[in-house]
Amino acid sequence: MQVRNVYMDHAAATPIDRKVVEVMLPFLNESYGNPSSFHSVGKVASDAILNARSSIAQILGARADEVIFTSGGTESDNLAILGYARKNKDFGKHIITTKAEHEAVLESCAELEREGFEVTYLDVDEYGMVTADQVEGALRDDTILASVIYANNEIGTVNPIREIGAKIQRARKGSAKNFPVLHIDACQAASALELNIQKLNVDMLTLNGSKIYGPKGAGLLYVRRGIKLQPLQFGGAQEKRVRPGTENVAGIVGLASALQIADDGRVQYVQKTTELRDKLINGILSSISKTRLNGHKTERLPNNVNISFMDIEGEALLLYLDSKGVYVSTGSACTSQSLDPSHVILALGMPYEVAHGSIRFSLGRDTTEEDVDYVLETLPPLVEKLRKISPVKVDEKYY
Ligand SMILES: *Cc1c(COP(=O)(O)O)cnc(C)c1O
Repeated sequence: MQVRNVYMDHAAATPIDRKVVEVMLPFLNESYGNPSSFHSVGKVASDAILNARSSIAQILGARADEVIFTSGGTESDNLAILGYARKNKDFGKHIITTKAEHEAVLESCAELEREGFEVTYLDVDEYGMVTADQVEGALRDDTILASVIYANNEIGTVNPIREIGAKIQRARKGSAKNFPVLHIDACQAASALELNIQKLNVDMLTLNGSKIYGPKGAGLLYVRRGIKLQPLQFGGAQEKRVRPGTENVAGIVGLASALQIADDGRVQYVQKTTELRDKLINGILSSISKTRLNGHKTERLPNNVNISFMDIEGEALLLYLDSKGVYVSTGSACTSQSLDPSHVILALGMPYEVAHGSIRFSLGRDTTEEDVDYVLETLPPLVEKLRKISPVKVDEKYY
């Protein structure tokens, strides 16, 4: 079997689309003006941001002034949670989130707890999902914010955001107050799922470029008009002073272009990757014993395959696969530098040994059937080799 390079870590990073690079390039060289400068060189840059903002707003079903550009998903999550909670703390100090959030959300909530807020971390079910009833049941008079991940970055499970949003809206209407509000992290969802904020019933939404074939270090936070945020940084008047600092013009232009391409290609992308995803899932589960699919079978991202291989260490399998030209991840990239097991797999009710043996294969636009076939041929002997030398024995009830 010929070794090939099969990148299956698109949930960690995607290459920048060629067309996106093309629209970014001018803003990295000839159009270098500061968007805040009043002369015509600056105007070229500020016009580019204006266009990017309105094109993004159109895709989200939002108004242009509801889009705030940031440095990525982490900053957007931080700004939504810390910025909203700190600004509105006089109305209540209770926040709702889930146990399967991205670290950018969990760590922001932990910071708020240190500042005297109270956070409810909702359990997820065995597939990693929360229900609208759970969110509703956790609401209190002093709840100001709920933050729920749209599609999970590790296991791909998609949460019922529309229903959750409807419950939050009803609670808000019933109280004649401006809260609670709903924030969602849509970083992993943008290529595959509905992004219209009116259909989703959401008040704030996080997106970034690096997961949708756009640039790293570029992101946005949609903030419904009327919602006030306390800035995390201070300086100039950019982004309505909520996020001051000279804009990342090339990044913003690239983010808008990447989102447009994702939006245009959504139907085709979902269809193609879903087929390859299911081929990979079924192939692994049928050819390798003692395996388990993590996440929901159908309510899952079309590009996500997360499998626990019992009795082995995910890191060892990752390195074996790397030597065969297959690039995957264990847990999420953000936690993989530590050997702590994934908090998401643990939240499914799985023990440490199962969490340690989990591998995420995330497909991309260019993944082919040959890539999937290659992984299906490469995997079984590697798993067998590792199991021969493994002292771990996972209880049968987990697979
Ligand atoms: C990648 C990711 C983030 C972090 O985004 P950065 O742009 O790396 O800061 C946040 N949330 C989710 C769901 C992600 O996948």
